[in-house]
Amino acid sequence: MGGNNRDKYIEFIRRLVDLTHSEIFDHEKYKVLIADICHHYRLAKGVTEFYPTPRMEMMKQGEVFCDFDNGKGEKILYHLRIVSQTKAVIIGTLYVEDNDEDWTGEEMEQLDTLFRIIIGFVSRKRLIRTVEDFGFHDIEGYRNFRAFARYLDITNSENRLGGKIAFLFDLHNFGIVNQEIGRKNGDKVLLNFYHMVEKAIGDTGIIIRLGGDKYIGVFDRKVKREVFELISGANVPYDDAGEKSVRVSAAAGIYMLPNPFMMKSPGDIMDKIMIAGNAAKRETEGAIVIYDDKMKAEKDRVKKVQTEYKKALEKEEFLVYYQPKVDIVTRKIVGAEALCRWMKKGKIVPPMEFIPILEINNDICELDFYMLDHVCRDIRRWLDEGREVVRVSVNMSRKHLVDVDLLDHIMAIIDRNNVPHEYIEIELTETTTDVFFRDLKRVVSGLQEQGVWTAVDDFGMGYSSLNLIREIPWNVLKVDKNFVPKNMNDERSIDNLMFKHVISLAQDMGLECVIEGVETVDQLEVLRRNNCNIAQGYFFDRPLPKEEFEYRMDQKIYPEE
Ligand code: C2E
Ligand code: MG
Ligand code: MG
Repeated sequence: MGGNNRDKYIEFIRRLVDLTHSEIFDHEKYKVLIADICHHYRLAKGVTEFYPTPRMEMMKQGEVFCDFDNGKGEKILYHLRIVSQTKAVIIGTLYVEDNDEDWTGEEMEQLDTLFRIIIGFVSRKRLIRTVEDFGFHDIEGYRNFRAFARYLDITNSENRLGGKIAFLFDLHNFGIVNQEIGRKNGDKVLLNFYHMVEKAIGDTGIIIRLGGDKYIGVFDRKVKREVFELISGANVPYDDAGEKSVRVSAAAGIYMLPNPFMMKSPGDIMDKIMIAGNAAKRETEGAIVIYDDKMKAEKDRVKKVQTEYKKALEKEEFLVYYQPKVDIVTRKIVGAEALCRWMKKGKIVPPMEFIPILEINNDICELDFYMLDHVCRDIRRWLDEGREVVRVSVNMSRKHLVDVDLLDHIMAIIDRNNVPHEYIEIELTETTTDVFFRDLKRVVSGLQEQGVWTAVDDFGMGYSSLNLIREIPWNVLKVDKNFVPKNMNDERSIDNLMFKHVISLAQDMGLECVIEGVETVDQLEVLRRNNCNIAQGYFFDRPLPKEEFEYRMDQKIYPEE
């Protein structure tokens, strides 16, 4: 039997080596080989265990494979535990039938060698998988950015990226979902949503989590409908039974890769989906924004303003312009609004080109305080010069409302300049969310107590609510020009009726009404008919540089045309 046994042994080794060296692992061949070996050596069962770390071995968190089992024996013949260099633990156990005859030393040696080869092979395969798991997934089980970069690399090298769609999703209001169902369930929703999109994408692309509630990836046009449907809204379960679920939707920025497309680095795609994704976030839920090159230009502009702003502030390039408010009956200047202008290299930049940008990261707050400070300095000087001074309103961005010290800040600036409080008016815009509403009320009431005037700006734009003037103790209502009826002859038109009633309501409540953007005699006539007597607009003056405004203020009265 010895010779035959040896031939068999050599054959087994040869087959094993062939198997482990072939590029594609042939599972069927492997099973047949294991069965052959087990028959030959009269084994009843063979089990291998794999644990990525010793700790996981202790906790029995690993993988156990039974490669062969004829169901006839549980007697342990052989047991081997190997710890690899990476500290992975591999354990092999061979069982024989209970009444098995004794084994020769030669047979045991052969079996030992064969088994070590097998275990080495199995553990190498497992380790590759572990490396994949650790390297391309985060600890919560999501694929990570490295997986995305690798996918792009491989697909690009095979020339298959062109025509695909790259995306960035941002779940809408996920903070609120977390509040409603708890963080733990929120985490499940995030993971399940990820799996839903992953399934829709199938093998046409990849999705990974960038962090938080942001996902990025790539998919093929042919699954576009399924994926977009999920973005517009999906019920995502968060319990195992699938009974409890929550509705989520996403905002998506996408970049349609041209075809053909050659990627130089993942940045080619990342930059674009980030830009489109940020734009999508600013839209309503379910929005899908497609990247185009204009967005890049816009982003560069934003960046430029943000970087130039600090220096400009230091160099006091921001100027206060004053626009008079005029009593249309007496034609007297009764007040002014301070409006910001950026004097940049001898050219004037209007606020709409920088204020929305400064609002993105709250830089606006600093600028508003700067404006208030400069206005206070001017008023102090005018008073010291013995001029007759009018009240000046200063705009405060709604970005201030989260600042719990806003009131103290404002008062500190006014008092530092030694300006009597009644000369200052603070303009704030209306707001739509309850949280801000509370803050707004707190700030306005606080200013009232200090004798500083308050105005609600741009009334009639967006979602004006009468609640706003009922609940908050404003002094002044600034009515946006768009609220002023265009056709004043049709007195029964909705525009006319609304204007008339809102104005009289506000006046009955004791609010001063200022109408903004009055440009024409006709508009002036509308104001007259509705008994609102304060106007601010080009009809009287544009916002004026300081010296010109001082001249106007000293004149006090606008001559009749
Ligand atoms: P706002 O506070 O509603 O200011 C009124 C705007 O209407 C000003 O635009 C003014 O120039 C313009 N306006 C006045 N009369 C007329 C008119 O007869 N016709 C037309 N078409 N427009 C008129 P401006 O100065 O370009 O400011 C735009 C906005 O920028 C302001 O709207 C305000 O929201 C913001 N802003 C300006 N300065 C500041 C500031 O210092 N801080 C903050 N937070 N916002 C500011
Ligand atoms: Mg204003
Ligand atoms: Mg306004």
